[in-house]
Amino acid sequence: MTEIVWCKKCDTVNYLDPYNFWNFKGHVRCAECGTTYYVHLINGFYYEGPREEKSDKYIMPLYADKPYDGYSYYLPGTPERTRPFVCLPSERPPTGKPFYVKFSIRGKPTRGWAPQPPSSGLAGSMGFKWDIKKLSPEVWKEYQEKLKRGEVREW
Ligand SMILES: [Zn+2]
Repeated sequence: MTEIVWCKKCDTVNYLDPYNFWNFKGHVRCAECGTTYYVHLINGFYYEGPREEKSDKYIMPLYADKPYDGYSYYLPGTPERTRPFVCLPSERPPTGKPFYVKFSIRGKPTRGWAPQPPSSGLAGSMGFKWDIKKLSPEVWKEYQEKLKRGEVREW
């Protein structure tokens, strides 16, 4: 957690998670009563706020609880109260299947992906002999296109 917004109207503690609020300027809505607060956080600490300020544009906290009410709480993803817990990169939605990194960050083919032929030996250890053109023609083709587009670099 970075900081909290302790709503004095309803004594609810709204926890500001680092995923959204590490560097944040905007409004947070109290999970219990819906009051919006202006907050400005820099590196996880308050720079301004929290102060009550009406706004239609807000972010809900990830989690909220009420310490004076036996710690009743709102877990992540409670509709209209808290956000769902999604700390996954949005460009890779969860599919339940592993994805293979076929190219390094410099655009060169890697050797880590499957399927590897039985001739690769124990645990597919091809060492320096990964014949990409023969073993993975589709990756080879993709690599040639990457070369043409200039997406392959040394450093
Ligand atoms: Zn409140």
